[in-house]
Amino acid sequence: MGKTVVITGAGGVLCSTMAEALAKEGHKIALLDLNKDAADKVAEKINNAGGKAIGVKANVLEKDSLVLAKEEVNKAFGKCDILINGAGGNHPLGTTSNPFLQAEDLLNKTEGFKTFFDLDPKGIQFVFNLNFIGTLLPTQIFAEDMVGRDNCSILNVSSMNAFTPLTKIPAYSGAKAAVSNFTQWLAVHFSKVGIRVNALAPGFFLTEQNRTLLTNEDGSLTPRGNQIIEQTPMGKFGEPEHLVGTTLWLCGEGASFVTGVVVPIDGGFSAYSGV
Ligand code: NAD
Repeated sequence: MGKTVVITGAGGVLCSTMAEALAKEGHKIALLDLNKDAADKVAEKINNAGGKAIGVKANVLEKDSLVLAKEEVNKAFGKCDILINGAGGNHPLGTTSNPFLQAEDLLNKTEGFKTFFDLDPKGIQFVFNLNFIGTLLPTQIFAEDMVGRDNCSILNVSSMNAFTPLTKIPAYSGAKAAVSNFTQWLAVHFSKVGIRVNALAPGFFLTEQNRTLLTNEDGSLTPRGNQIIEQTPMGKFGEPEHLVGTTLWLCGEGASFVTGVVVPIDGGFSAYSGV
């Protein structure tokens, strides 16, 4: 029987693909997003293909908004069986201009150039809130539906940068490390009430958020894009569809004894030392 699946950030590139795949398995999908139009578009696509989905406006950083979203989901599809915490991302204010600090960076500063010393706490807080608090709050609201019921699970979205931080993005790397750590904590905490908790750690997926960082206008790779491909043994960026198999496995009964794992989906990036 189809389960009720709640996905945050579901209007985005990666989570909309996961949503479509889960809908094809016969599940009812509640697509939560700050951007209601984006969520509605995904819902329309799923419904037109014969699936069941609704778009729901929700801010993962506001408890009241999530409580309202839960009422809407429960009314349409009943209790939540599976929660995917997909909303997340980085912010330019938590990002340095260069991978390494050079002594001369402090002497010849140009407009807009950001060293570690210029990082703005507001940017860091934005990123920690969106990724960590934005995973914790929806879990508080939706996991109550799961307590004591069979085959319920939570899937968080961490990142490969949680294993080893990427240069330039200390806030995003730290926030995703917190998501991975929290995944293990929750898996243990919820182990007696039948809720499994796991996470995906996607590598580099070419999306609107990072397209200009990784590729030039003509589609060729930027130096950073090139560096990533050289460091990825499988030699390519991920496609959203690469997340589908692991998502269906971790949310399904084949993973009924799997909890507290963070699965890298990164073409071997995190396994490779570069030598
Ligand atoms: P995306 O920007 O396409 O989607 C993110 C969605 O989250 C957007 O629809 C946005 O409206 C929504 N959102 C933002 N703030 C929100 C809030 N406060 N409340 C509710 N919704 C909110 O991003 P994506 O690339 O599909 O990433 C999805 C997840 O995967 C994120 O957690 C991201 O950190 C993670 N991730 C992405 C990559 C990658 O290469 N794209 C790699 C590793 C991890």
